[in-house]
Amino acid sequence: MDNCLFCKIARGEIPSRKVFEDEDVFAFHDINPARPLHILVIPKRHITSLATIADTDTLVLGRILAVANQLASENGSPDGFRVIINTGRIGQQEVQHLHAHIVGGPEPVGPMLKRV
Ligand code: AMP
Ligand code: ZN
Repeated sequence: MDNCLFCKIARGEIPSRKVFEDEDVFAFHDINPARPLHILVIPKRHITSLATIADTDTLVLGRILAVANQLASENGSPDGFRVIINTGRIGQQEVQHLHAHIVGGPEPVGPMLKRV
């Protein structure tokens, strides 16, 4: 995906504050953090969202979750964290490259969602 922001970040064409990289995933600090810890973990290969995944994406999806605990522990949230994957219009996904938000810090992150 030539024009995708997060593909460009994964390729190093746009600078980011990288915290982790392996063959399949790339993780970096969110530019506008919502909590003291706010990292984004993305597949290096373009996947638009959880609404568009294929069977071949299962491995990388697992990898994204599997690195979360280590990244949270190493970056100021050793006592737990929250993972958020906004998806599509209803999930209010702004960047159309699948990403998991890992949020946390020294204090609890707050209520999950405002109840209707
Ligand atoms: P979402 O609403 O789930 O699509 O989240 C997109 C996230 O990407 C937001 O939290 C933004 O602050 C973050 N973001 C946008 N551009 C950048 C960037 N260049 N580097 C790091 N994070 C970014
Ligand atoms: Zn992309």
